Amino acid sequence: MARMPGAEWIGPTANLYPGGMVEHRGLVLHIQDGTEAGSESWFKDPSSEASAHFLNPKSGGLRQLVDTDDAAWTEMAGNRHWVSIENEGLGGDSLTASQIENCAQLLAWLHAQYGVPVVSTDDVNATGLIWHGAGGAAWGGHYDCPGDPVLAQRPQIIARAQQLVGQPQTPPPAPAPNYPAWPGEYLRVQQPMLHDDNVRTWQQQMAHRGWSITADGWYGPASASVCRQFQQEKNLGVDGIVGPQTWAAAWTAPVTA
Ligand SMILES: [Zn+2]
Repeated sequence: MARMPGAEWIGPTANLYPGGMVEHRGLVLHIQDGTEAGSESWFKDPSSEASAHFLNPKSGGLRQLVDTDDAAWTEMAGNRHWVSIENEGLGGDSLTASQIENCAQLLAWLHAQYGVPVVSTDDVNATGLIWHGAGGAAWGGHYDCPGDPVLAQRPQIIARAQQLVGQPQTPPPAPAPNYPAWPGEYLRVQQPMLHDDNVRTWQQQMAHRGWSITADGWYGPASASVCRQFQQEKNLGVDGIVGPQTWAAAWTAPVTA
């Protein structure tokens, strides 16, 4: 039996595989797309055939519904390998400061309990902190769960969890400019070529990080090439497009090369 010290126990629910965990690869971020109370009652309703190990309200501490030795019914093919956390909020919401803290506390506990490394991953066969949509169709095809604003907060969760487990820290993440007030247009190679202040701001930041890039505000092949190399280095999806995750990482990810 494994329950997290400090988490409020709110079980049981019938929606689980008893003793069903094959392996603990890490933690899956979800967004409830609803309220904490509504999600709790839904996950306790046998007809929903759904649950999660942890619920994370917008304010207050973590709440545990499923023992982490049991498999919750949260992300289909991932259920027997991953611990799940459902964050209160609607798709497109950012996590509150307390939710980030709770996610970090949980990741730190999973590190101590199961040896889960305090890193981000988008690979369902790897280990660390992942998100629902990364599992694709096999995980139910919830590509928008937990949503870009939450994904952009992953570096903050990782940095705090590293602090909790006493690992060498990444520099404290500074909030990226224009985020979460995202400009709305991803930076990508297109015709006519994209040219604006968002491009220049990103180029200046990449130059500041040590990349060889000219801050001229034009998003052409040279910018896309730097973008791809950066995405590769940071284990982001490599597409040469600066979306919310890649944008945020330019400010929050540690400079490693
Ligand atoms: Zn989800």
